[in-house]
Amino acid sequence: MQKPVIVLDPGHGGYDSGASYHGLKEKDLNLALALKVAARLSGYKILLTRERDIYVSLADRVALSKRAEADLFISLHANAGGGKGFESFIYSGLGAKDPAVPMQQVIHRAIMKALGRWEIVDRGLKRASFYVLKSNPRPAILIESLFLDNIREAQIWREPLFTETLAGSLADGLSIALGSSNNESPASASPTANSSTSSPHSGLYTVQVGAFAHLENARQRLAEAQAAGFGDAYIYQKQ
Ligand SMILES: [Zn+2]
Repeated sequence: MQKPVIVLDPGHGGYDSGASYHGLKEKDLNLALALKVAARLSGYKILLTRERDIYVSLADRVALSKRAEADLFISLHANAGGGKGFESFIYSGLGAKDPAVPMQQVIHRAIMKALGRWEIVDRGLKRASFYVLKSNPRPAILIESLFLDNIREAQIWREPLFTETLAGSLADGLSIALGSSNNESPASASPTANSSTSSPHSGLYTVQVGAFAHLENARQRLAEAQAAGFGDAYIYQKQ
């Protein structure tokens, strides 16, 4: 039986720090959160668009979601710009029956409930045309957890209990979202045309970190992967 695939997308990375305020960098918070969420989920195939502080283009993030045939892609961000609170997004062009609609609801609710002790403002379930939502052929959600330029909310982010609670509620929300959407036929997902991500028969698992039309770009990503400690990384050309 195929496990549901969750792609966790810690926003920003490398030279792109995201929002930076009060000594916090959004890219670090997003990554720490993603790793905590991944550690709390079992029974899923979890893929991260990055596991380190490296730059990954938005196109590559979406490409992973597409290639892995993600059952759910979730992009993790923290906000800035003079507001406060938590908000979640799905693509504005989705119909009311799109699978992302109920997924956003359960995830949003799970998080808001868990954050009750911090009295976080609920900015609501929103829609937007962010690239990772709009260009994503798979169900995709983006969350913006608190405003780093708000001194109170930056301090909340510094509390270890907050990150733990957010990670736990996100993991719970993801499980509920996938449980409810998988009810009809958990094992009926179409067989992966491209078996590069997992191959249950051979026991060989390949982790792909990018697909590029230009060799130069592939070489650059290879260098990044090797610099990040993945000494076994190599380039192969698909027919
Ligand atoms: Zn961001």
